Amino acid sequence: MDSAAHRRDAAVRAAVTQGVVGPGRPIAGLLDVRGMREAARALKAAFGGPAPALHAFAVKAAPLVPVLRLLAEEGLGCEVASPGELALARAAGVAPGDTVLDSPAKTTAELREALALGVAVNADSREELARLDALVRSAPTASPLGLRVNPQVGGGTIDALSTATATSKFGVALLDEGARDWLVRAYAERPWLTRLHAHTGSQGCPPELLAAGVRATYELAEEINEAVGGRQVRAIDIGGGLPVNFASDEVTPTYREYADLLAATAPGLFDGRYGLVTEFGRSLLAKSGMVLARVEYAKTAGGRRIAVTHAGAQVAVRTVFAPEVWPLRVAAYDAQGRPKTADPLPQDVAGPCCFAGDLVATGRTLPLLEAGDHVALLDTGAYYFSSHYAYNSLPRPGVYGFAADPQGVRFAPVRAPQTLDELVAESGGAHAADLSALR
Ligand SMILES: *Cc1c(COP(=O)(O)O)cnc(C)c1O
Repeated sequence: MDSAAHRRDAAVRAAVTQGVVGPGRPIAGLLDVRGMREAARALKAAFGGPAPALHAFAVKAAPLVPVLRLLAEEGLGCEVASPGELALARAAGVAPGDTVLDSPAKTTAELREALALGVAVNADSREELARLDALVRSAPTASPLGLRVNPQVGGGTIDALSTATATSKFGVALLDEGARDWLVRAYAERPWLTRLHAHTGSQGCPPELLAAGVRATYELAEEINEAVGGRQVRAIDIGGGLPVNFASDEVTPTYREYADLLAATAPGLFDGRYGLVTEFGRSLLAKSGMVLARVEYAKTAGGRRIAVTHAGAQVAVRTVFAPEVWPLRVAAYDAQGRPKTADPLPQDVAGPCCFAGDLVATGRTLPLLEAGDHVALLDTGAYYFSSHYAYNSLPRPGVYGFAADPQGVRFAPVRAPQTLDELVAESGGAHAADLSALR
């Protein structure tokens, strides 16, 4: 069970034989516990330098309390960007001091709560810094406080995930006229600003671009500390964003490669003068997750082969609506959950949603899929369980962690499947008569 691919195959087989998926439960998310732990350990090992490091997992990538708890056991904290994500981190038992609040739209109430708890806060803008000024004056806080800058080093291949463009909505734009001087002064006037934060982007941003953003942030920290004649900026928060290889089982780039690149791009970052905060999401979990779904029908239309499965836009919204940008590998398994290998043919893999574009793969060469078979959407451990799409009122599937060893595969629930009663309730079931009463 040493390779992730072996564990994956064993987990699919066991999910079918143990009824984690079946006719009445045609879709489930599966998470490889060992894979998640190994990724967390690889991250810590790569960045284990002389200075203290906080690795805050970006909760939006997997807002699942048991996952946050498992990562916390590995020594990771949480990066949160909403009251909901903060509540999840707290429910997982993550200490406030290991939690970082980022968001471009924090309310005063959220900021006040974070400061009362001792959660680290990165202000996103000058305007938000003014709110922090008032809060810091009104009550003492243990929260490490910082400011997010936009290093404006440019975007990657996915516009929607590029946060360091000239006009990004995030952070204080570092290269705008007068911004650098303003930033140095802002720190000089506020001895309590002790962190500096940048998150250059996510998937689609090459590591070199991320490293350029980190370097710009590091240089600003040096300039601030020189200007104040001390070590006011004590930690640099380098964000996350390491891209994931969705094309094969190979983990590339690795945390080690990225840490080496950072050490070469920003010499001094790791020499022990600065504490480090990281906020990785996708690269920690993508490879450890899959969506497993039954093939309900296999049909043809106009010469096109279509496997109609239970995994579509409701679980893979980005892949369905932007397939060029978010392609996924699809693995084929038979009705017993054994890998299928025979007769590869081009096929479309469709989901259950009622619109023609609900396809997770088109013209994909796969062993011929038949009714009762299974498909697994690979590398879906990050973001795919956080971006459920309520189209057609398809319920959120259950998510299960698995441990595969030579003795067998054991599952543990991570998130229960949404029930139809819950679905009705969140769709206004309690208000069935209220519209009619409005006359
Ligand atoms: C989304 C986000 C992250 C995580 O990005 P990944 O690409 O998942 O590593 C980290 N920090 C901030 C501020 C983010 O918005």
